[in-house]
Amino acid sequence: MVSARPHELRLVLFDMDDTLFDHSLTCRAALEQLRREEKPLASRPLDELWREYLRLLESQSSGIAASPATYANLRAERFRLLGDRCGWTMGPKIARELSARYRDHYQRLRRPVPGAVPFVRRVAARVRVGMVTNNEYREQEEKLEFLGLRDLVDPLVVSARENVAKPDPRIYRIALERGKGRAAETVMVGDSWRNDVLGARSAGIRPVWFNRFGIEPPTRHQVDEFRSYRPTGPAEAVLRHGSSLAGRPFHRTASRPSSRPR
Ligand SMILES: [Mg+2]
Repeated sequence: MVSARPHELRLVLFDMDDTLFDHSLTCRAALEQLRREEKPLASRPLDELWREYLRLLESQSSGIAASPATYANLRAERFRLLGDRCGWTMGPKIARELSARYRDHYQRLRRPVPGAVPFVRRVAARVRVGMVTNNEYREQEEKLEFLGLRDLVDPLVVSARENVAKPDPRIYRIALERGKGRAAETVMVGDSWRNDVLGARSAGIRPVWFNRFGIEPPTRHQVDEFRSYRPTGPAEAVLRHGSSLAGRPFHRTASRPSSRPR
């Protein structure tokens, strides 16, 4: 159901990972490659390995880190723990080597969320587009370059550079200030209920949930959502006019295929 909104849309903020850039499936593809190369990892089914990896990512992620070196150390630790889960006790050197190899696979196998790039181009032709994302700045900027969207996204607000992470409303206020947008004329599009939906809402911004896997909302809050960028028209209409979930049954949290990794 489409309803009129009182404010004109002037600024659209996007999340990066699993909203525009397909982080989860890139992770999966990189792990699949590593699993082919390392016998101990092959002792576990790929799906199990992937979910465990995403769990480890989630448990490590604060959204803020001091430096790229910190991320490299965290990644090595993830592989040490992942090895543990497969009965493979590895020293720090092997963990670093494995994580570096994973990183190479990840870079090579990167992919956008289907339809995301043309969708952002279409939106950017009409209103200002910005990004609010948790991670290290250069990493996220590089993803934007990979997607061919770097020139279209301004402001690019990244947690590690700002020293504040989603869902803290302060990071959204930074985006509003730099994007010269008022909260009432802005929407935030993202896949994470906590970081993007609740975070944006806490800053007075209307969230639009990119609910790619069609899961039930974790709470009784109503939220505008779309599940695919294709076709672009309906998704764009949700940004402009909203969509009502009124009348839909609500359930407690369903488990997601992916967490909020980075
Ligand atoms: Mg995300």
